[in-house]
Amino acid sequence: FSTAAALEEPIITPSVQVNHTQILINGQFVDAVSGKTFPTLDPRTGDVIAHVAEGDAEDINRAVAAARMAFDEGPWPKMTAYERSRIMFRFADLIEKHNDEIATLETWDNGKPYEQAAKTEVPMMARLFRYYAGWADKIHGLTVPADGPYHVQTLHEPIGVAGQIVPWNFPLLMYAWKVGPALACGNTVVIKTAEQTPLSALYVTNLFHEAGLPPGVVNVVPGFGPTAGAALASHMDVEKIAFTGSTDTGKIVSELAAKSNLKSVTLELGGKSPFIVCEDADIDHAVELAHFALFFNQGQCCCAGSRTFVHEKVYDEFVEKAKARAMKRVVGDPFKTGVEQGPQIDAEQFGKILKYIRSGIESGATLETGGERLGTKGYFVQPTVFSNVQDDMKIAAEEIFGPVQSILKFKSIDEVIKRANASRYGLAAGVFTKNIATAHTMMRALRVGTVWINCFDVFDAAIPFGGYKMSGHGREKGIYSLTNYLQVKAVVSPLRNAAW
Ligand code: NAD
Repeated sequence: FSTAAALEEPIITPSVQVNHTQILINGQFVDAVSGKTFPTLDPRTGDVIAHVAEGDAEDINRAVAAARMAFDEGPWPKMTAYERSRIMFRFADLIEKHNDEIATLETWDNGKPYEQAAKTEVPMMARLFRYYAGWADKIHGLTVPADGPYHVQTLHEPIGVAGQIVPWNFPLLMYAWKVGPALACGNTVVIKTAEQTPLSALYVTNLFHEAGLPPGVVNVVPGFGPTAGAALASHMDVEKIAFTGSTDTGKIVSELAAKSNLKSVTLELGGKSPFIVCEDADIDHAVELAHFALFFNQGQCCCAGSRTFVHEKVYDEFVEKAKARAMKRVVGDPFKTGVEQGPQIDAEQFGKILKYIRSGIESGATLETGGERLGTKGYFVQPTVFSNVQDDMKIAAEEIFGPVQSILKFKSIDEVIKRANASRYGLAAGVFTKNIATAHTMMRALRVGTVWINCFDVFDAAIPFGGYKMSGHGREKGIYSLTNYLQVKAVVSPLRNAAW
C-alpha cells in the first residue's frame, strides 16, 4: 500500500477552533438539563476533540417545545414562501463562505478525506439548500375537477414538527437531505446528530441563524440513540420522523413512532448493493468504478457496491486489476493532500470490519490483498479484496460498512439478476455493459431504488434516493422528498345556486 509513510508522519493539527459544543434550542446554545457531556473522538487517533452536551429525553422535550412554538405561533409556516426561500439561499451563501472551516470540522470528527469534504460534500450541501430554497415558493395544491356542483381544491400544508435522526457517515449531507425539504415545506425541525459526529451540524445551524433563520425552526440535539433518539421517535408532539441508519435501528424507530402517535416515518436504511460487470463491459472503467463504489468514504456508504458480480469470462482479469487498484489506494491522515482513505469512524465499526474480514477468510473466500489494520493507533483498515466469494458467505450477505470488496462470479444475465435480487436489501445497483438491451433488462429487473448504468454514486439534489425492501421507504432529494413533509388537505365547497 502507498500508506505506511502517510501514517507514520505526525498528524496534522486542524486549524479551526471547536466553538459550538452545546445543545442548540430556540436559537440558543445551552447545556444538557442533566449537565452531562460526552467526548467526541478524532478517528485518526482516538483522542478527544471536545466534550459535547449530551441531550436526552428532557432536552428533546425542550427542543420539541421550541419547534412546536415556532410552528404554531412563530413565523416560519406563516412567513411568505419567498421569505423562507431567501433565508435558505442566504444560508447556502454562508456555507460557501465558510466552506473550509465546515469541511475541517467534518473531517476531524468523521475521518473522511478533507479534499472530499471541502471539494464535494460542503459544496453539495450548499447546492442542496439552494435546490430546496428554489422549491419553497413552488409548492402548491391543485384544483380538482370533481363530480357535482362543487369547487374542490387541495392545499399542500406542512406536517408540523419533524424529528430527524442522522448517522455519522455523511453528517452534513444527511442534514441537508432532511432539513432542506422539511423547511422548504414550512415545517420546523428537531435534529438528533449521531453520537460520533455532532460538531458540523452545530456549526452550520449557528450560521443558519446568522442567515436570518428564526429561533426554534431548527433545533439540534447531540446525544445517543436509545436516549435522545428514542425520545424523539416516540414524542407525542412530533408529527413526522425521518431516520437514516441501520435497518435494525430503523425497525425500532418505526415501532416507537407507531406506539406513540403514529407519526409518519421515512427510513433510509442499509444496503448490500450489487455492482454487475458484464462480459462486454469496459473492464478498466468497471474496475475503477467498482473500486470507487466500494471504497469511497472508507466503505461507509449505505449504497456501497458491496457485491461485485463479474462475468466468468472477464473474472480473472477483473480480480487482478481490482487487487492492483486496491494496493495503490492511498490511506493515511485525511487532512493530507492526495489521501484517498482515512480511518473508520470508531473502535466499534473498526472491530466489526476486522471480524467480517476474519469471517471471509474462515469461510473460504480468497484474500487477494489487505485484511489487517494499518498502523498502531486510530481506526485505519487496509483496503481489502476478496475473490471467490459465494452468495451464502457472511461477507456477501451482510452490510460490512468498511473497505472490503467481495468479488463474485456469474455466468448469465438471468442468473445474476436473480442473485442480485436475493437480498433483504434493495437500495442501489450498478450495471456495466455496452449492450443497451442488457442495460434496460437489468434496469427493470433489479429491485432497488437507484440503478446506475456505467456509472456509480452519481448524486444530485434533483435525483431521488431511497430503498426497496428492507432498505427503507420514502425518497429523499428531488421533488419526491417534498411529499415526506407535506399534508394534503382537500377543501370542498358548493358552487352558488347548487342543490343542497
Ligand atoms: P445506527 O442506525 O444505530 O445509528 C444511526 C442513528 O440512529 C444515530 O444517530 C443513532 O444515535 C440513532 N439511534 C441508535 N439507536 C436508536 C434508537 N434506539 N432510537 C432512535 N435512534 C437511535 O447505526 P450505527 O450503530 O452507528 O452503525 C451500525 C451499522 O449501521 C453500520 O455498521 C452500518 O451497517 C449501518 N449504518 C448505515 C447507515 C446508512 O447510511 N444507511 C449509516 C450509519 C450506519
